[in-house]
Amino acid sequence: MKHLKRVALLLKLDLQKLILILIILCVSCLFISSVFILNYLIKAQLIESSLSVNQKYAAKVALSTDQYFDNMLQELKYSAAMVGQDFSDKKQLQSEVHRLKHQSNNFNSVTVIDRAAHMQYFEPRNLNLSTSITYTTLGITESLRLKKTYISPPYQATSKNLLVLMSQPIFSPERQYMGMITGSIYLHKKNVISEILSTSYSYKRSYMYVIDQKNRIIFHPDKKRIGETIKNNNGLDFMLLQKQGNVQLTNSQGIKNLAGFAHIPSVNWIVVSQQPTEELFEQANQIIFKAAAGIFVFYLMMFLIIWKIARYISSPLHGLAQMAGMLTKPEIEQQIQEIDPWYFEVMRFRTALLFSSKRFKDKISELNLHINTDPLTGLHNRRGMQLFLEELQTMRTEFAVLLIDIDLFKRVNDTYGHDQGDAVLKNLAGHMKGNFRENDICCRMGGEEFAVLMSTADRDAVFNAAERLRKTVAQSSTNGLDPVTISIGVAFWPDDSEHIKEVFKHADNRLYQAKNEGRNCVR
Ligand code: GH3
Ligand code: MG
Ligand code: MG
Repeated sequence: MKHLKRVALLLKLDLQKLILILIILCVSCLFISSVFILNYLIKAQLIESSLSVNQKYAAKVALSTDQYFDNMLQELKYSAAMVGQDFSDKKQLQSEVHRLKHQSNNFNSVTVIDRAAHMQYFEPRNLNLSTSITYTTLGITESLRLKKTYISPPYQATSKNLLVLMSQPIFSPERQYMGMITGSIYLHKKNVISEILSTSYSYKRSYMYVIDQKNRIIFHPDKKRIGETIKNNNGLDFMLLQKQGNVQLTNSQGIKNLAGFAHIPSVNWIVVSQQPTEELFEQANQIIFKAAAGIFVFYLMMFLIIWKIARYISSPLHGLAQMAGMLTKPEIEQQIQEIDPWYFEVMRFRTALLFSSKRFKDKISELNLHINTDPLTGLHNRRGMQLFLEELQTMRTEFAVLLIDIDLFKRVNDTYGHDQGDAVLKNLAGHMKGNFRENDICCRMGGEEFAVLMSTADRDAVFNAAERLRKTVAQSSTNGLDPVTISIGVAFWPDDSEHIKEVFKHADNRLYQAKNEGRNCVR
């Protein structure tokens, strides 16, 4: 608080500036906190909705993929039944495989393999498969062992394709196991999963991928990553445990994502739909920036309105405070009366000022009547001046002291005699009265030395008045004698000193300086 006061004094702060600073501080704080809250709320809201949208989307895709797989197994089952009617009928076997491969694009390849793991027939025919070897790849070995509906994990097949194999067992009418019919999905080629997943879904840079229970990528928009095992994704464990949900994760590339996920029940793969958090925040920042601009305009208007009201409240006080320093001015009483005393403090302050100004006036007229005047010139004498000085001090009114001395006055007396000298003094007094305003106090200090007290702090006005007097005197003669000249020294209270004695000393020094610098000048 102490420092604040010192700064306020140093910056010459007044009530209006203080209120202005206070309003700016308050409005800025409000603005900054509003933007912070807005930023927090918008981002939290966007994260929540992004997680929920991604989760719903993943669930929907998982469900439809599951239904698709179910249909595909049904297709295989039907063909298995057809082939099983007579496993030795090669023609029927071939036509069934052909139909299964080509009536829909669900499988990248279809094969029939007998229980000894020998290829019976395959489509498409351009696959380089041999009917004379025994197939021992993972999918076929497992199918033969299980002898039932089977979907393999992804594995590298004889054809060098990374694939997922679906198979149905073939039984003869006597319920004897004959082999199997398989349909494969080639993960690196255009396939049924990529058809379902890469439909033009790109809401705010969302993307989808599918992983199996061993974290292997079944589908990814970046084809090179298919077959890769994901590591360093901190959301994986959570996704493996839950059937569906959402999670904020950091992926293997170190990018933060908002992910929704769901399991495909038939294969227990996980469909993940995710969106980079940064992408979302970039959009949020745009929204926040626009909103902040709107709020800024609102607060600016609020600031202007408050500032106007504050000015309206403080301006009568401000006006009165300025008038308090000019109570000796003749028109001040009317100016004080013009101020509208519409609240308590102003009313009291105004009354007090009016009272003071009246007291000052009364004092002046009392002094004027007093005998503190110089009989020769009719100006105030030294004692009269002393009374004015006391009054100015109690009112704390700023004023200037002008000390005036006639140049080489001794010579006038010596040449023309004392009477002519007195006439010159009277003449100068007349010029002084004419030169200064009514409320400036003109005095004869003694001999041929004079003083003027001007109740103003306006340096220009003081020096102009002094200069004007000097010129007038230098141009006017008394009783046909050569014009005399004057030198003037000027000092200010309280600028030169708080003590009046010191101020007079300053003025005297400057007068001395004027004499030294050739006379007939103002210093
Ligand atoms: P300068 O001020 O320019 O240095 O020269 P100066 O000749 O004016 O010097 P100084 O101020 O010392 O002279 C004062 C003279 O004023 C002395 C005296 O003859 C004269 N004087 C003083 N009082 C009166 C007065 O009441 N009537 C007249 N006629 N002369 C006075
Ligand atoms: Mg002199
Ligand atoms: Mg003198």
